[in-house]
Amino acid sequence: LTFADILGHEPQLELLRRALGSGRFPHALLLHGPQGVGKGAVALAVASALVCDTGGSEPCGACVPCRKTEHGNHPDVMRIGRLPKKESRKRPGGAEEADDGTGEDGEGEEAGRSGDLRPFIIVAQIRDLIEHAAFAPREAPRRVFVVDPADRMNGGAQNALLKTLEEPPGRAVLILVASRPHLLLPTVRSRCLSVGFAPLPAERLASLLQRRGMSREEALARAALSGGRPGAALGLDLEALRELREEVLSACEELARGPKALAARLPQAEGIGRADEGAMLEWLDLLEGLLRDAARAASGVPSESLLHADLAARLAALGGALGPERAAALVRSIERLRGEMRFNLNRTLIAEALLAALAGAPAP
Ligand SMILES: [Zn+2]
Repeated sequence: LTFADILGHEPQLELLRRALGSGRFPHALLLHGPQGVGKGAVALAVASALVCDTGGSEPCGACVPCRKTEHGNHPDVMRIGRLPKKESRKRPGGAEEADDGTGEDGEGEEAGRSGDLRPFIIVAQIRDLIEHAAFAPREAPRRVFVVDPADRMNGGAQNALLKTLEEPPGRAVLILVASRPHLLLPTVRSRCLSVGFAPLPAERLASLLQRRGMSREEALARAALSGGRPGAALGLDLEALRELREEVLSACEELARGPKALAARLPQAEGIGRADEGAMLEWLDLLEGLLRDAARAASGVPSESLLHADLAARLAALGGALGPERAAALVRSIERLRGEMRFNLNRTLIAEALLAALAGAPAP
């Protein structure tokens, strides 16, 4: 993995390149931006650069430390993420750790349907990190700790990390990766060099994907359906997402005609509410992208600069039916909801409220 393998994000990579080349790399880095934007890959590339034999301002991708980092077996690069559920975590001494991952109200119940991972990075994992950070590196000039997703550290874990951030051990570098940095304590955020990542314009991402040998048509579809997020664009199930997009757009079209359609669509909200958090975010992303396009199309933005350019005619009609102002207001409320969304929030209620707002009806 080298910087050249990262799609887009040139200004961010340039900043990191300068920091790496300066010989005074910060002790803590916070990479933040939407899910799937590619910040995890950047974190890995930076970790690689920090242990690379060339000692340069980017990873060579070919030396032994670079390859070990990529394969997750470099002794000085530690990745901290959510642990699998039901797997009791063994301390090095053999004693089992009590599960303190359910420190906030409501999430224990929710955990049952949010995949196979624990909802939180727990304090014991951070204590491990701190212990390791105090050791001298084994092979590289420093030790690197990648905490991803850092916004899944529970309160105890964040507080435990804070001390290390305040007085970082000499040769340790912490890289925090977060799609919801506002869930981090302000004191944690303020001790990191913060680098933000945004989705790429769809056209730009499509041309980057084409340069990697993808057909024009597939590149455009992936760029649009991923909302310009390179990581998501490469990983997405194109057919499933196309279907979901059609479902979301036809619901919008129907609801834009008025509150009468609402009753028939409410069961859909329940389905969305039952899905896991990732699926909910995917639904919100699609809805937001479509509504933003609808607002822009209705205000006369040319169709080729829309995210979902292939649906330009339908989106212009939707924007006309909703009115650009209401479409824009809906986009803002989705942005706010995504920011506020925590696992213990009732997802069905959120989905119902959005469908009602689309229909111009009060929330049920
Ligand atoms: Zn290297």
